[in-house]
Amino acid sequence: MIILVSACLLGDKVRYDGTDKQNDFVVSLKENHTLIPVCPENLGGLKSPRLPSEIVNDKVLRKDGLDLSDNFISGAMKAYEIADKSKIDFAVLKSKSPSCGYQEIYDGSFSGKLKDGNGIFTEILLKNNIRVFTENDIDEINEIE
Ligand code: SF4
Repeated sequence: MIILVSACLLGDKVRYDGTDKQNDFVVSLKENHTLIPVCPENLGGLKSPRLPSEIVNDKVLRKDGLDLSDNFISGAMKAYEIADKSKIDFAVLKSKSPSCGYQEIYDGSFSGKLKDGNGIFTEILLKNNIRVFTENDIDEINEIE
């Protein structure tokens, strides 16, 4: 299968703090599948390291209040183009992120609290009927394999 994956889960140091979130299960998917890594924030022109951002109402704000919505949206659109061209079967995205989060994301208070919702990129995938999982959905992903 062809699986779109958040690049940070494969070890790319693209997170806001300059680190990765390499995940052994996600890396192991390479053995039997073609993985397409993307980082929507990187594609939107955001470099690492940088201050964290969260979704606040309908905008994506950096912790110092700067509105980065345009970067997040343009990056998500570019990442979706890659997903579309690659004819992916499904996506495995990093949980809780304002771009890649699925079903729960940070709540906009920059305090580590979560709320129900999807990241900007995840929302575009779901609207285009692409199935999304997080790195924690090991059982569900194994059922598809
Ligand atoms: Fe990882 Fe997605 Fe954040 Fe990029 S935008 S660092 S791929 S969670």
